[in-house]
Amino acid sequence: MNLVAPNNKRRIEVIVVGTGLAGAAAAATLGELGYKVKAFTFHDSPRRAHSIAAQGGINAAKNYQNDGDSVYRLFYDTIKGGDYRSREANVHRLAEVSRNIIDQAVAQGVPFAREYGGLLANRSFGGVQVSRTFYARGQTGQQLLLGAYQSLSRQISKGSVKMYNRHEMLDVVIQDGKARGIIARNLLTGELERHAAHCVVLASGGYGNVFYLSTNAMNSNGTAAWRAVRRGAYMANPCFTQIHPTCIPQSGEYQSKLTLMSESLRNDGRVWVPKKQEDAQAIREGRKTGNDIPEADRDYYLERRYPAFGNLVPRDVASRAAKVACDEGLGVAPTGLAVFLDFESAIMRYGQAEANTKGISNPSEAKIKELGEKVVEEKYGNLFEMYEKITGENPYQTPMKIYPAVHYTMGGLWVDYNLETNIPGLFATGEANFSDHGANRLGASALMQGLADGYFVLPYTIGQFLSQEIRTPMIDPNSPEFEQTEKDVENRLNQLMNIKGNQSVESFHRRLGKIMWEYCGMSRNADGLKKARKMIKELREEFYKDVFIPGDAKDYNPELEKAHRVADFMELGELMVVDALDRQESCGGHFREEYQTEEGEALRDDENYAYVSAWEYTGWDEDPKLHKEELVFENVELKTRSYK
Ligand SMILES: Cc1cc2nc3c(=O)[nH]c(=O)nc-3n(C[C@H](O)[C@H](O)[C@H](O)COP(=O)(O)OP(=O)(O)OC[C@H]3O[C@@H](n4cnc5c(N)ncnc54)[C@H](O)[C@@H]3O)c2cc1C
Repeated sequence: MNLVAPNNKRRIEVIVVGTGLAGAAAAATLGELGYKVKAFTFHDSPRRAHSIAAQGGINAAKNYQNDGDSVYRLFYDTIKGGDYRSREANVHRLAEVSRNIIDQAVAQGVPFAREYGGLLANRSFGGVQVSRTFYARGQTGQQLLLGAYQSLSRQISKGSVKMYNRHEMLDVVIQDGKARGIIARNLLTGELERHAAHCVVLASGGYGNVFYLSTNAMNSNGTAAWRAVRRGAYMANPCFTQIHPTCIPQSGEYQSKLTLMSESLRNDGRVWVPKKQEDAQAIREGRKTGNDIPEADRDYYLERRYPAFGNLVPRDVASRAAKVACDEGLGVAPTGLAVFLDFESAIMRYGQAEANTKGISNPSEAKIKELGEKVVEEKYGNLFEMYEKITGENPYQTPMKIYPAVHYTMGGLWVDYNLETNIPGLFATGEANFSDHGANRLGASALMQGLADGYFVLPYTIGQFLSQEIRTPMIDPNSPEFEQTEKDVENRLNQLMNIKGNQSVESFHRRLGKIMWEYCGMSRNADGLKKARKMIKELREEFYKDVFIPGDAKDYNPELEKAHRVADFMELGELMVVDALDRQESCGGHFREEYQTEEGEALRDDENYAYVSAWEYTGWDEDPKLHKEELVFENVELKTRSYK
């Protein structure tokens, strides 16, 4: 790997789009290294990035629990968890670097939870049999982001990073085949601006909001990545979407957001549905509650079907199992779409242990419960409070109701080992790239990947490209390429403004989301996917004839921002459908109904599909072109995933 000498770094400019964990960590570290960095976010502050929502924790192979963890085990768990559809080399590097992240965050003062003796505490997440997840109550993302933001702020005050808040990148500028800048819209004034650099890093997050309803922050979108695709970058595995099993169920048609209940809750919560349909129906109709169902009439289906991992099976497995239970008429919400997550046994177990420690002999059941609730509150208090505020039900007293929801996109811009896309000088990090999670991401691994990319991987690998650029003078934003790209953006915005139709942007987004969820959601089949593609094309046509955007392009205009993002979502949504149709196997979060075992588990086809799909955009009405990156497994045996 070539490096750039410190005196040369001062002459090189880098643009970083996004200041979530991946972007803030990268911008801060590149600034510290001596590069001149320009960082962009559409938020009013880097602290508002979606990363702040992350609840449960961040993985690292520290083996503090002495429970058999190691770099190899984290690597192995991640490859297996991703259903053998990720690149070995990247994942191994991630596992190695995971340990440094914790040291870095601790040095920044991130208040990770600690054991009584002062050591950092750990808990378990799905798909693993060790405890390697570091956490700060249910606010791990927020605390980590504050750490990264603090490092970024230091560089901003030193002048090595220039921060552009409320700026949205709407295109990437390619000069002589290399990414040399971006066109950004100042969201407060509506002005288009040209920003040049020697290379561009996209840390713009995931595109789960293509489904309209998801656990993602409302503003998260795919525009930065999609605009790069429109300029020639490949989109990898776009159909690999993570549906998280523990979210608060949808309650009405006009809901615009879903709320996650952290996976950490599955450490102690037991998932069940009534065994009898009549009990489920009584609960749905409000004639009974979960507490009325005797133990013998409950089906703890994850513990029954997957005894080795129980309630901590990976997310794709848990989500599908919940769907199967609800499809069988055993759902417990009025919509029929919910299962229970029950803390009663944990409360009693912890309560008894507390009573023992406190020397209380023969404690009453009420006393045990009281003591146990305190322990559970200590661990998950803010999540329980959030649940109660949203649903009006007290989860200490009645089991939570949960249902799967769109949460994370494993797909993203194709990158090589250096995190560089196929466009030289264009890099992608964090959720915006596809690199590490295969067909299913394990819980607490997104924060790990975003920070690994930002603090450790990119600042090193970017040197390989930049070492060839030390003689390149500052890039001129007045070149014809910048002028043309700005014109293209202006035309696109004017086209949207001039439609002057009758329907709101929101209504199109909601309709797109419904199509995606129905046909490209938790399970998919060829007929549905073909239908979805046609429906999306029709919706797109209707959008360009009938969307209504008030206001002006050269002004503050949130509706225009949304319209542009939804227009891109429609194109990206179609590509997701094309990808799902191409992959005639089931793996991880991609469940094709035609390819399943007799027990309803995902049936992979390693012979024909052990590849990364990297899609090239070829034109508005053209079929995208598929490039295949064959996956080679040299350190992990390619075998059927089993959590039984
Ligand atoms: C509710 C919830 C809880 C989660 N909990 C966990 C957890 O406990 N552990 C875990 O590992 N993962 C968790 N995840 C996943 C994890 O939070 C995300 O994958 C991760 O934070 C993504 O970080 P990022 O830096 O890649 O992107 P983001 O945090 O999404 O940041 C994207 C940045 O890009 C900017 N941006 C985007 N487009 C543009 C543009 N066109 N122009 C300018 N700026 C742009 C945004 O302003 C923002 O600054 C959770 C996710 C959700 C939804």
